[in-house]
Amino acid sequence: MTTTVLAIDIGGTKLAAGIVDAGGAILARGEVPTLASEGPERVLDRIVRLAEDVLGKPGVSAHAIHRIGIGCAGPVDRQAGLILNPPNLPGWIRVPLVERIEKALRRPAVLENDANAAALGEFRYGAGKGASSLVYLTVSTGIGGGIILDGRIWHGLKDGAGEVGHMTLVPDGPICGCGNPGCLEALASGPSIARRAREALATGRPSRLREAGDFTAADVVRLAHEGDALAAEVWEETVKYLGLGVAAIVTILAPERVVIGGGVTQAGDLLFGPLRREVRRRVKLVAVESVPILPAALGPDVGILGAAAVALDA
Ligand SMILES: [Zn+2]
Repeated sequence: MTTTVLAIDIGGTKLAAGIVDAGGAILARGEVPTLASEGPERVLDRIVRLAEDVLGKPGVSAHAIHRIGIGCAGPVDRQAGLILNPPNLPGWIRVPLVERIEKALRRPAVLENDANAAALGEFRYGAGKGASSLVYLTVSTGIGGGIILDGRIWHGLKDGAGEVGHMTLVPDGPICGCGNPGCLEALASGPSIARRAREALATGRPSRLREAGDFTAADVVRLAHEGDALAAEVWEETVKYLGLGVAAIVTILAPERVVIGGGVTQAGDLLFGPLRREVRRRVKLVAVESVPILPAALGPDVGILGAAAVALDA
């Protein structure tokens, strides 16, 4: 009999739950809005109702499901099962998530921060399949990541490892949300790309970005593709920063794969082509041509499959 688990993915805008087998097939699923502003109590109730709903779906043998995996926006205290104070879950301060879930659903639960869970999901079921080590980056509103070494999440001291978005690339660069100047996230996240483009526009240079009004990183990518010089320059710089970050990761860890997900990867070949060239140019001491730099493969299922992988590895 194959192991089947209940996976729960808690995000700032939506809650998702699924029944997942060991092979990564999602047998049942459900999704509801988080409505985080209603506070932890109401959201916890919604999580439990969503989980019960999924467990009760036709074809699900609820009695055969003995484990729950939870991925949640960090920071979390994994050992104590607490949600600490995630920026996108306002008012959630040291919420005893695991205890509440275990009591309500009468099964043991394991908690992991969502970036680590996503890394493990890609490793087990996605772009990392067949490898023994992987570094995962997600580049969207922020830049997060997770490190898998010898098949397991590398948590580091007090679960602090994997914060790839917060390596310093420019000593006196723009101040990052973490407080440090010049982090990768402060240079290459979606909002940072748009900010750098606005700064370039403020010098008075011509660009079609001006007509785009309240533009986003996606507009920068689109106009770069269409040949707008300023947008192309901002995008090239973005790829350079990401390349520096990935090159540092490859030089230190020599992972078998680097997997990149998040909204910014919608740029496709406009990102991956020049990024691979930049990384190859920078890395001298690792067999970098043997390190594939791949787009994430799980798409919107990464939350559920990541949480499932966490439960299955527990
Ligand atoms: Zn930072």
